[in-house]
Amino acid sequence: MIKKENIFYTFSKNNKPVYRAYDGEIITLETVDAFGGQIKSEEDKLDQLDWKRVNPATGPIYVENAQAGDLLKVDIMAIELDSHGIMASIPGAGIFGKMYESSSIKCFSIENNHTYFNDIMLPLEPMIGVIGVAPETDTPNGEPGPHGGNMDNKMIRVGSSLYLPVFTEGVLFGLGDLHALMSDGEVNVTGIEIGGKVTIKLSLLKGLSHGHPLLIDQDHFYTIYSDKTLEDAVKGASLEMHHWLKDALNYTDSDTSMLMSLMANLEICQVVDPKVTIRMKAPLTYFRQFK
Ligand code: CA
Repeated sequence: MIKKENIFYTFSKNNKPVYRAYDGEIITLETVDAFGGQIKSEEDKLDQLDWKRVNPATGPIYVENAQAGDLLKVDIMAIELDSHGIMASIPGAGIFGKMYESSSIKCFSIENNHTYFNDIMLPLEPMIGVIGVAPETDTPNGEPGPHGGNMDNKMIRVGSSLYLPVFTEGVLFGLGDLHALMSDGEVNVTGIEIGGKVTIKLSLLKGLSHGHPLLIDQDHFYTIYSDKTLEDAVKGASLEMHHWLKDALNYTDSDTSMLMSLMANLEICQVVDPKVTIRMKAPLTYFRQFK
């Protein structure tokens, strides 16, 4: 297991790997929460927070034989959550940030796949917020991009496989920022932020990168795209889907676009990080090359 002391705050080609993995290896990583474990109680104040220690990711992992242009497949095999999670309302942050004069924090006890928000019982949906590879240019972990990063995509969960483009020899992969529960949009900037352990399998698809992340679960194929505006992210996710669907079916541009307009659905991952993230979802059955 890669312990939670092995963390970094910026995805970079210059990071020193903490572990070397072979193609096909199964690895467990221990993670700390998005606040770096600095918040312990509802009485804590965010203005005491060391913001340099937020969004830690565990790693990076060097994957043997990986080259730029490959696609790294990350099978999410297990997510084990710690027993306590936290949320925060942060003045100035998210859709409601102007309503708050000071921060507030809520703590959650995690038990048997559910938790309580006041007296409301909520079933958990554990997911990974930050997961990515070394990008072309150094990117703080709080920002999503072509390399993955802080996508806050709730479909990155047990049973799904994330495909990340490789930009550098050895990949330099890392993950962190688990959420016990988060809704699409993440409108108040945090989900239930929590530490834990994640078990993944890393494998390489040589030369298959098209420059942005993909996700596959039991029934669906998703493109994922992060950009400055929702409009640009929507266009990006759609163009990525067009590329993969056209390749899968060997259709014309027009036929590909028409079919997408019938069966591909746009969904919002998050609208609160330095870039917003959109995913486009289509039935997996069309994507023979990924089955
Ligand atoms: Ca996040």
